[in-house]
Parts: sequence; structure tokens; C-alpha cells
Amino acid sequence: MAKKCDFGQICQKNTCHHCCVETEMLLTKKDIKRIVRATLTLPKEFAIRNKNGYLMLQNKHKSHEFQCFFLNENGLCSIYEIRPEGCKFYPVIWDFEEHKAILDDYCPYCEEFALNLSSVSDNLENFIFRLFGRL
Ligand code: SF4
Ligand code: SF4
Repeated sequence: MAKKCDFGQICQKNTCHHCCVETEMLLTKKDIKRIVRATLTLPKEFAIRNKNGYLMLQNKHKSHEFQCFFLNENGLCSIYEIRPEGCKFYPVIWDFEEHKAILDDYCPYCEEFALNLSSVSDNLENFIFRLFGRL
């Protein structure tokens, strides 16, 4: 059986934090509780509502760009172990038209995650259903 690749290792190997810039990553209530508990940061510091009313990560102007509140000055996620569930799945995302998990080609290295696609598909489906109440 082919060995699954580790999401974080691929990002680190490519010294990439592309998806942490101008992020629109949605947050679950559990994400927010976990992050507040671990970082003692108020939700209003790191979360905002998007135009559809969903809570998402907030960007801050740093290093001449708008970066996720939690991206540190070394280009690393400062809450990696407790990062939002959606960040753990990315670059695997849900295609609402095809009703299946796909790799987001916004990630410049998305092909390196191909082995993970089928293994996280069911969990992603559950996550999307919990988030939106539909698929
Ligand atoms: S929480 Fe971490 S992994 Fe998610 S967008 Fe922010 S910096 Fe990136
Ligand atoms: S864009 Fe892709 S390779 Fe870059 S940090 Fe995000 S998931 Fe990792």
C-alpha cells in the first residue's frame, strides 16, 4: 500500500504558507473554544464573520500582506497542533457541485497531497455536513 504523505511535512519541505495569506478558512465552534482555551486569545481578535455569516479566521496586515492572525514571523502556524479543522484538511476541499473531495489547485504543491485524498474524504464529508448542514 502506498504510504500517505504528511500534510505538514509537505508544507515545511516547500517552505510554503500560501494558504495562510488572505485566508478565508471557516471556523467551527469547537475550533474557537479550543483556540481560546489554548491561547487565551479572545475570539474577536482572530475571528470575523464573512458575508454569509460564517465565522472565519481573521487576517492581519503583516510583512506587506494580509496574513492569518496565527501565522508567525517565521512563516509558520503558531497554533499548528490545535489549528482549525479546515486547515488540517487543506488542500483537500469539498466540491459542492461534484459532491466529492478534491485537491485545491490554489495550493502550488497540491499534487503532492494526492495520496491523502481518498483517506480524508469521508472525514471531510462529515466535517462539511457539520459546518453547513448539507453537502
Ligand atoms: S490557523 Fe495556521 S494553518 Fe490555519 S490559516 Fe492560520 S496560520 Fe495557516
Ligand atoms: S498552500 Fe499547500 S503547500 Fe502551501 S502551506 Fe497551504 S497546504 Fe501547504
